Amino acid sequence: MSRIAYVNGRFTRRAEAFVHIEDRGYQLADGVYEVWALFDGKLADPEGHFARLERSLSELRIPMPMSREALTMVLREAVRRNGVREGLLYLQVTRGVAPRMHAFPQNPVPPAVVITVNRVDRAADEARAAQGVAVTTTPENRWGRCDIKTVGLLSNVLAKQAAREAGAVEAWYVDELGLVTEGASSNAWIVDADGVLRTRDTQANILRGVTRLSLLEVAQEAGFEVQQRPFSVAEAKAAREAFITGAGSLVLPVVKIDGDPVADGRVGPVASRLRRLYIERARATAI
Ligand code: PLP
Repeated sequence: MSRIAYVNGRFTRRAEAFVHIEDRGYQLADGVYEVWALFDGKLADPEGHFARLERSLSELRIPMPMSREALTMVLREAVRRNGVREGLLYLQVTRGVAPRMHAFPQNPVPPAVVITVNRVDRAADEARAAQGVAVTTTPENRWGRCDIKTVGLLSNVLAKQAAREAGAVEAWYVDELGLVTEGASSNAWIVDADGVLRTRDTQANILRGVTRLSLLEVAQEAGFEVQQRPFSVAEAKAAREAFITGAGSLVLPVVKIDGDPVADGRVGPVASRLRRLYIERARATAI
């Protein structure tokens, strides 16, 4: 955990950083968040994360708390003050502080902003990626606007906890047709039996992962055939490879689904290569 947090215009010691009890994020989950991977102290995939933040806010009719330029400066300052080179930056913007009522406050209040920065042990992450991870599956039970990155994550919390109790690191949601939508905090991918890279299309009720989007480009540039097309749990188990993407997981091979091995249960060459290519590009384009 890093030492300094940003709360509503001020950098403070993280242990002493508090939000108001009537913050609508706390009371009603009325807010959004973004997570940036940090490489060499710089924000990865900046355009994708800023664009999604603006879209999430606009869908909820919460104003941007400041211009993109000003926000970039604040985010960088948060990274600098914490002295973090490799890590994750968390930004939360809620509708603000107002007496608890479901409808928006009648007199507009300023959005509330919190930023924290955490260190990541890249060596440990690489070791985990080399081993691959297990996922479980869980019935899709989230609301219909998973394209908005809201702080309302109770379903995801329960799914992740169930995954952890089963010895897995991620839970894949499965819709009523038996098709995987995405993970509780990542997007889901396979290299199918024909060698085609597949991930769910964004017409589905999923978060438009920024890492997913970057990896689509990376994979196409590297000459892979990529299809944004759903796959079933059975297809994933029978696939050559499976993996997840996200700002935290980057590109992380999946070797077990509900206790069954994916292919021979070992990390495959495609996911490993894509992980390396993604990280190279993210490092080179971070700001
Ligand atoms: N899907 C969900 C539900 C998530 O919470 C996340 C990240 O937190 C992702 C996908 C991956 O998104 P990104 O690559 O933008 O981190």
